[in-house]
Amino acid sequence: MRVLFCASEIFGHAKSGGLADVGYSLPQALIEHAQMISVMPFYAFMDKTLYQKSDIKFSVNLGGIEYKISIYESTADNIKTYFIYSSILSYTEHMYGDKSGEYANNDIRFGIFCAAIVELALILKVDIIHANDWHTALVPLFVKRANLAIKTIFTIHNLAYQGVFEKNSLGRLGIEECYFHMDTLEFYGKINFLKAGIIFSDAITTVSPTYAKEIVTEEFGCGLEGLLYAHRDKLFGILNGIDNTIFNPETDSALWHNYTAQTLQKKYENKKLLLREVGLKDDKKPLFIMISRLVHQKGFDLLIESLSAFLKEDVNFLLLANGSDIYEKALEPFAAEYKNFKLLSGYDEAFSHRIYAAGDFLLMPSLFEPCGLNQMIAARYGTIPLVHSVGGLSDSVHEKKKTCIRGVVFSKPTKKALLLAIKRALKLREEKKKFNEIISFNMNCDFSFKKSALAYYELYKKVLS
Ligand code: ADP
Repeated sequence: MRVLFCASEIFGHAKSGGLADVGYSLPQALIEHAQMISVMPFYAFMDKTLYQKSDIKFSVNLGGIEYKISIYESTADNIKTYFIYSSILSYTEHMYGDKSGEYANNDIRFGIFCAAIVELALILKVDIIHANDWHTALVPLFVKRANLAIKTIFTIHNLAYQGVFEKNSLGRLGIEECYFHMDTLEFYGKINFLKAGIIFSDAITTVSPTYAKEIVTEEFGCGLEGLLYAHRDKLFGILNGIDNTIFNPETDSALWHNYTAQTLQKKYENKKLLLREVGLKDDKKPLFIMISRLVHQKGFDLLIESLSAFLKEDVNFLLLANGSDIYEKALEPFAAEYKNFKLLSGYDEAFSHRIYAAGDFLLMPSLFEPCGLNQMIAARYGTIPLVHSVGGLSDSVHEKKKTCIRGVVFSKPTKKALLLAIKRALKLREEKKKFNEIISFNMNCDFSFKKSALAYYELYKKVLS
């Protein structure tokens, strides 16, 4: 079975969030079941000298225009990965947009990507294309429209991002007017890429069982709940995992001191060094951390509302985040007023590992969370997650049950519930024995993609049968 796994970002090449982590670790975990090949765009910020130029060359025609495609390759990490280079797709400084918003031509950029994926799939003679999120959502449409003998799986990592564009995109993408219909791509007078993935794929998956149930409801469906409900027979929730090799405190070269559940004193040494590095005082205080995109989804409104009361507790709080200027501006006055709060803006992979290693608690007050990887990474580094019980967080973090992961959980996204959860976390920290037991328990949990990869493989077999 040959599977072409396509995503707009893959860890090691380009990453803005969890999609890249999954784009790396899921195909890796599937290698033992299927012949996996990956494909992503080649972006301008990638170093051409690290990739080989492929002999494969073709062009794709969208709306009467020929777009030349060249391909780069890499065989690092046991998986052959192809990188689609087209001048329009690849010229931008970032993947999707900059501080002033999303790039206006993302429709055509990712339309080219989708058309190129289908062409590549034919050249490589794959049985299945596994598409991920809106950037690849036109693939199932292009496959069905051309009546190709390729099956498609479409995974929704975050329903909030749908790829919605003005109607005139249709012509530019060479998509016929008959697809501008409520039952296909039309979405309140515009076109919606994600709808194409939902409607034309052979199976849809999303990244946790709870999120699969949530997205067919008005509260979490982002306007697509009706459509998803109509397609519920082919919708499956499969929990994400993380790569145990990348996220391993025992071997992680980003840390000052490597450690295991048996050598937690070394975790504490990491904490002391990190506090010194960022200028926070008193390593005896519990250190709360948050590593996140700075967006509404992650619960920043709730956090900001609760921040004064939280920072009056005997805690340190370190936040590494990048994204919205509005939230950054709203958080800055707190960082100026409270000496126990450090706000670091930016994206830094290695530094994030040091923060995971140093923390006592990870805050995740997300309003919705398709799966969430932060809680798994934190648990692996012995940092206890404190989460709002929603989506994948309610599938993976438990306060009462002794199942992976153990943490502190609140069920209503209110200031009162969050502050009470913080109080419970502080109380837990004082119960030294229990606190350390939970840390060790979490560090020994299996977060790998092994089990979930098997579920994907079963689904691959099902769509092929
Ligand atoms: P999402 O994909 O919604 O951003 P996930 O929890 O699925 O959230 O995955 C987030 C991933 O991105 C994790 O690997 C996390 O450590 C990483 N990450 C998020 N923000 C930053 C940042 N500012 N710097 C470094 N890594 C970050």
